[in-house]
Amino acid sequence: MGVKTYKRAGADIYRTPRWKALRALAKRRDGYRCVQCGAAGDLEVDHIKPVRTHRELAFDLSNLQTLCVPCHSRKTRVEIGLAEIDPRRQAWRDLVNELTPKGGTQCSTV
Ligand SMILES: [Zn+2]
Repeated sequence: MGVKTYKRAGADIYRTPRWKALRALAKRRDGYRCVQCGAAGDLEVDHIKPVRTHRELAFDLSNLQTLCVPCHSRKTRVEIGLAEIDPRRQAWRDLVNELTPKGGTQCSTV
């Protein structure tokens, strides 16, 4: 309490055979796909409520979700207080969304 630490919370949890078994269960439940984007590549199992703040849920299957590495690192960045996305990149995305016709083809060769 008080001291902020960026040391990975729950490192002791991730080493246990119990966690490894639970992680396999979570991936199977989620169909071996990222629950956010559907990617089936590099998958990690994430604590929906972080172990750092909800240690009692560390081994609760309902608190686990399968995420791909990019989705997981984005979530972790948000959790440790970094901006989810650079404001300039967000502005760019908004612009692209504005300019992209809804339901139209993206690469018209007219
Ligand atoms: Zn993903």
